[in-house]
Amino acid sequence: LVLNELAKEVEENLRSPICCIMGHVDSGKTKLLDCIRGTNVQEGEAGGITQQIGATFFPAENIRERTKELQANAKLKVPGILVIDTPGHESFTNLRSRGSNLCDLAILVVDIMRGLEPQTIESLNLLRRRNVKFIVALNKVDRLYGWEKSKNAPIRKTMMQQTGDVVKEFKMRLNRVQNQFQEQGLNSMLYYKNREMGETISILPASAISGEGIPDLLLFLVQWAQKTMVEKLTYVDKVQCTVLEVKVIEGHGITVDVVLVNGVLREGDQIVVCGSQGPIVTTIRSLLTPYPMNEMRVTGTYMPHREVKAAQGIKIAAQGLEHAIAGTALHVIGPNEDMEEAKKNAMEDIESVMNRIDKSGEG
Ligand code: GDP
Repeated sequence: LVLNELAKEVEENLRSPICCIMGHVDSGKTKLLDCIRGTNVQEGEAGGITQQIGATFFPAENIRERTKELQANAKLKVPGILVIDTPGHESFTNLRSRGSNLCDLAILVVDIMRGLEPQTIESLNLLRRRNVKFIVALNKVDRLYGWEKSKNAPIRKTMMQQTGDVVKEFKMRLNRVQNQFQEQGLNSMLYYKNREMGETISILPASAISGEGIPDLLLFLVQWAQKTMVEKLTYVDKVQCTVLEVKVIEGHGITVDVVLVNGVLREGDQIVVCGSQGPIVTTIRSLLTPYPMNEMRVTGTYMPHREVKAAQGIKIAAQGLEHAIAGTALHVIGPNEDMEEAKKNAMEDIESVMNRIDKSGEG
């Protein structure tokens, strides 16, 4: 019984997995995110989804609602999924390489009509180098000739409603994509047939326009994460946090946008950030996020928080951040921690960021 309770507690103490979306330009990364976010907004309820700093948070409740047709009462042990939504962002090229490091898992988007393209392969290699697990969203299935749309339906259900000709074209294109992955040294398979996850990559057909396959995508990500990444996702007290960007915001001065990967950040925390002119020691003045999506009227202003628990995207306002360096870690100095040690640790990060950029030609 004690063990059971312990197991339960561990279960309940998981943070949200962080997922990034990668792929060739125009494969539908932005549209896919819009689609996941959009349905509920159009129906007048954001379902708790919050658009954050460089990220969107999808709460478990929302995911349950979206996936109930696929699997009723799915067991969701994580609070939600945090999707890093950098496509189209000015520093996307930076975040793409750094971002994939923060990510627990990734969606690699492939346009079914176009197959693997140069940036697909580039993303693929980046993910492999960083050892990030990913699923392939084979997007734009609605463009197959004669496709019968079925809004937001699970993919197997919608596939059963297609004519023989459509299914034939689908299989032909799927096959081509599988061969292209094979050329990259990867076995791949439709996700619901894949029994060797980890060895063989999963392909999930979807449409960002009609929402088909989106329930599958959401459920897959959550279940995959909670099945294979429990250790990584177990919530810890030690803060793990990465600076994405340094920005001037009216009314708040210089701020840093961060992704809090694990732990808690609190107003008043003393932090060390890596700076171009040495370590920056400062105190968190405010922890800010945009207002929830259903409060459009307050766009452009930020909601303050006393504390924020991982995983979340947050804007931090504090003094002295002007020389902070994007891509490095933010550390919280604990009551028993040695300040000099903390500063030294903070600055070690800059070397690893630089080395990484030099070695891989990213950045
Ligand atoms: P990104 O560059 O990867 O972010 O691609 P976008 O999301 O901007 O999409 C590129 C174009 O493809 C846009 O015109 C989208 O409307 C279109 N598109 C994206 N997903 C789909 C899809 O599932 N079906 C169809 N028919 N068009 C799509």
